[in-house]
Amino acid sequence: MRIDVLTLFPSMFVGPLDESIVKRARAAGLLDLQIHNLRDYTHDRHKTVDDRPFGGGPGMLLKPEPVFEAVESLAGAATRVVLLSPAGRPFNQAAARDLVQREHLLLVSGSYEGFDERIREQLADDDLSIGDYVLTNGALPAMVIIDAVTRLIPGVLGDDDSSRDESFSAGLLEYPQYTRPAEFRGMPVPEVLLSGDHAQIAQWRADQARVRTWQRRPDLMKSLEAAAADGAKIPARRRKNI
Ligand code: SAM
Repeated sequence: MRIDVLTLFPSMFVGPLDESIVKRARAAGLLDLQIHNLRDYTHDRHKTVDDRPFGGGPGMLLKPEPVFEAVESLAGAATRVVLLSPAGRPFNQAAARDLVQREHLLLVSGSYEGFDERIREQLADDDLSIGDYVLTNGALPAMVIIDAVTRLIPGVLGDDDSSRDESFSAGLLEYPQYTRPAEFRGMPVPEVLLSGDHAQIAQWRADQARVRTWQRRPDLMKSLEAAAADGAKIPARRRKNI
């Protein structure tokens, strides 16, 4: 898979994407990641990328010219152009699963007060928000999306089941997990996990995932139930967890 990022801060990407699973995916040739500086697509002496908003108001906006030139030069027929914006569609595990199906992503990271609206209208296939808060620029959101998508690329995780069993994959939060020792500072691991009875363990985990989701994210549980009630096409693996 190929991911290109357009940003005013390429150096922010050095480090986070050179470690751990993303590093391994790049080294294995499963992810081709390229970071581009938006200023390279300007033609004036000051490499200007921003201007004041028409109608007044605080701050500056990214101007259309360099962004159009960059996207037109980096995107091809198979590219999904994704604008990063707090006003975008919420990014979640389902969105990550959708993005990983794409051959090529171009993540367009904003700065200042955001983009001239014509950029979104004309260039973007999608705009995504990583949460209901405002960050200084789109570099961190781009890295969040790259990380979440990369771990879904087949072959990137040692065991592809890891991403299938995680929180959100089945629509629920993950069940509690324990490792050795079986008792630590007077806190025992639940008996069932030591029993070796795989059916009982699976049942306990499914129950715990439901309880935890109800307690912490009733919104997730309600949307699963609503989808089931509507007769929506929930994959069998998800349906059995409701
Ligand atoms: N004026 C904009 C608004 O109120 O929606 C906020 C602009 S923000 C300071 C600058 C840039 O950071 C945005 O254009 C976007 O690329 C990025 N950004 C900030 N918060 C984000 C979020 N929650 N999700 C995705 N991108 C975000």
